Amino acid sequence: MKKILRKRLVQSSHDVEVQQKDPNSPLYSVRSFEQLNINHNLLKGVYAMGFNFPSKIQETALPALLADPPQNMIAQSQNGTGKTAAFILASLSRVDTSKPFPQVLILSPTYELAIQTANVAKQMGQYCQDIKFCLAIKGEGTHRGRKIKEQVIIGTPGKVMDWSLRYKLFDIQKINVYVLDEANVMIAIQGHHDQCIRVHKKLSKECQVMLFSATYDQEVMDFAEIIVPNPVVIRLRKEEESLENIKQFYVVCKSMDEKFSALSNIYGVISIGQAIVFCHTKKTASWLSEKLTKEGHAVALLSGNMSVSQRIAVLNRFRDGKEKVLITTNVCARGIDVEQVTVVVNFDLPVDQKGKADCETYLHRIGRTGRFGKIGLAINIIDGPRTTIFLKQIEDHFGRKILKLDAEDVDELE
Ligand code: ADP
Repeated sequence: MKKILRKRLVQSSHDVEVQQKDPNSPLYSVRSFEQLNINHNLLKGVYAMGFNFPSKIQETALPALLADPPQNMIAQSQNGTGKTAAFILASLSRVDTSKPFPQVLILSPTYELAIQTANVAKQMGQYCQDIKFCLAIKGEGTHRGRKIKEQVIIGTPGKVMDWSLRYKLFDIQKINVYVLDEANVMIAIQGHHDQCIRVHKKLSKECQVMLFSATYDQEVMDFAEIIVPNPVVIRLRKEEESLENIKQFYVVCKSMDEKFSALSNIYGVISIGQAIVFCHTKKTASWLSEKLTKEGHAVALLSGNMSVSQRIAVLNRFRDGKEKVLITTNVCARGIDVEQVTVVVNFDLPVDQKGKADCETYLHRIGRTGRFGKIGLAINIIDGPRTTIFLKQIEDHFGRKILKLDAEDVDELE
């Protein structure tokens, strides 16, 4: 178990599981970047960025984005799930470096985002010396009279519209990849909605259009429908993402004392991150924290008895790393968002009022906010047939296996 913990905690990539929701869909997924058959130098750039495996959105989106004939796409997933990297990779792989004119046009909603995206593009293209980039944002000269030779333009809608439609600094008809990033932010900014559409109208019919959004609401979809003809639509629901980076285990114990010693052993191996332990009742939580403290461990207790300011103080100490383990109850399960937490222990599994496994709470306890590459561990302590059933219900609900950790393995850690 120690090995598993260490490995999981330090790895910066995550296991990718293909979840093909619609079996009739022509989409397929890849588990490695090699399978994409992209240019060798581009692949080198991807690896140099430390990307070992495609993220969930990447493994589904990239095959479609790289397909021939090119497919249009609307893709939605939370921020931090790898969308930018996906469209940069797809766009750069379509650049014909023998042609000295813009072929890829990427629109970002803000100045800062455009710069950020350009930096990702430059990094990914670092071994593709012949791919040149141009930023179309405020502060960049209008290059009046000078035709743009760079193959990739990254900019904000207003500036791009000026450069293309007003000053004719490049031929928009020759653009073969049009990317709209952060569509949800885009439409919230005055004027951007219309500017994107105006640019879009001038594109050639063959141009591949990709639209990315962190949210998927009607407004975004209405906008997307205008811009993206015949799209492949990819959506990653939060729930699917949230368990994506989490390895789930369970330990079988026979008594409260065994549960305690299992926990105590787990504590011993948390040398890298921090852990949160969830108990069913305040009583168990206090008992546990007292017992661990007596053993000389520095633990924090967050309980429903505390005032708001006390809770905040406890959480702040925990955030600062003063304690490595936080013991709490359901009451506090929501809204605890501590980046460095890598292990969640369900000392008691969450149960709803009908006496069934509370899957939603389970997800909130162990789920991550979707920041890419954070590996987490969830360890569930089981103590009898009732909790075994809960575990099975949770497995079935999420369709993900929870692996058994041998109690002996845990003992070995001592
Ligand atoms: P989004 O556009 O959805 O917000 P990004 O593409 O910016 O997500 O990715 C979020 C973070 O994850 C970035 O720091 C990025 O470098 C990293 N990242 C993206 N794809 C991968 C990958 N396949 N492997 C490892 N890290 C990745």
